[in-house]
Amino acid sequence: MHFIDLKAQRQRLGDKIDAAIQRVLDHGNFIMGPEVGELEKGLAGFTGSRFAISCASGTDALLLILMAWGVKPGDAVFVPSFTFASTAEVVALLGATPVFVDIEEDSFNMDPASLEAAIREARRLGLSLKAVIPVDLFGQPADYRRIQPLADEHKLLVLADAAQSFGATLDGKNVGTLGHATATSFFPAKPLGCYGDGGAILTDDEELASVLKSLRVHGKGKHKYDNVRIGINGRLDTLQAAILIEKLAIFPEEIVSRHRVAETYNNHLSGTVVVPELRSGATSVWAQYTIKTADRDGVAERLKTAGIPTAVYYPLPLHQQTAYARYPTSPGGLPVSEQLAQTVLSLPMHPYLTAEDQNRIVAALLSRT
Ligand SMILES: *Cc1c(COP(=O)(O)O)cnc(C)c1O
Repeated sequence: MHFIDLKAQRQRLGDKIDAAIQRVLDHGNFIMGPEVGELEKGLAGFTGSRFAISCASGTDALLLILMAWGVKPGDAVFVPSFTFASTAEVVALLGATPVFVDIEEDSFNMDPASLEAAIREARRLGLSLKAVIPVDLFGQPADYRRIQPLADEHKLLVLADAAQSFGATLDGKNVGTLGHATATSFFPAKPLGCYGDGGAILTDDEELASVLKSLRVHGKGKHKYDNVRIGINGRLDTLQAAILIEKLAIFPEEIVSRHRVAETYNNHLSGTVVVPELRSGATSVWAQYTIKTADRDGVAERLKTAGIPTAVYYPLPLHQQTAYARYPTSPGGLPVSEQLAQTVLSLPMHPYLTAEDQNRIVAALLSRT
């Protein structure tokens, strides 16, 4: 049994991926070939955002947006601590200060009350308030309904870290349209993954889109060898774009399958372990199906014995990690993040999980030996 079964997806796609790769090998435009623009059109169409700018990874997507916004030393950028390192890393890379915010116990996402307290703390520290990066953890959008008004009040830009939530919705709006700009990742294990590294930025802001396109190619101006700003090499490979075009075509069906798998887990497991909860008006794309249980390590061991892989996202919040321990946190610390790191356990989750395998997982979870 696989935690995420990419082989099953590959089988389903049949020759399509091979043919797409072959077309790129034949035309030879490996950098910014025609598939890159085609994919960007597809991503914008899928989300309903005006602009999609592909890039080399989800991390670069986050970094490029902060670069475009001119994030610099002395700036505070509010981030959850219960997330993958990239969310805070890009802030620190630019010399700005990540300010860690706690999460809600039910949704695993940024707690607006903790954000509000963190904003006061950043002010007290003399930092300039710049942006907030809500993370749509495990595939469910963060509480933008409450975060956006707070951001507006304090003139913070909202960068949605949708590395795990591409394909989810909130109040009928697609991820990609929920923040001022959205970063997503096509790392192979993400809901929409390629066969290497890849990412994209979604935004309705035309000026931002044009700066991002420059930044991802070394800050180029009108001419390739006329650089008007300091940028990076942040392009998506044509080969990955070609692969993503094929995967995007079946993604809507995969999302339906993901919903079905999550619902089956919910039906069988609620009452025995704490199952993940969606806020009203939200759909998740279930990058992870994450339960909470006091005997986390025992349960993981029992499943492992039964041949069932699990994973812990995340065993240690960022503010407790060596590289990030020196940055400020919301006053009163981050008790929910610290506690959840002890109890979370993610189960196998992908669109091709069979009923048979899922029954085995459920049976192993429900058996108490
Ligand atoms: C995966 C991930 C990223 C980084 O994406 P890469 O494509 O691996 O650079 C950023 N934020 C979150 C929340 C992620 O899960």
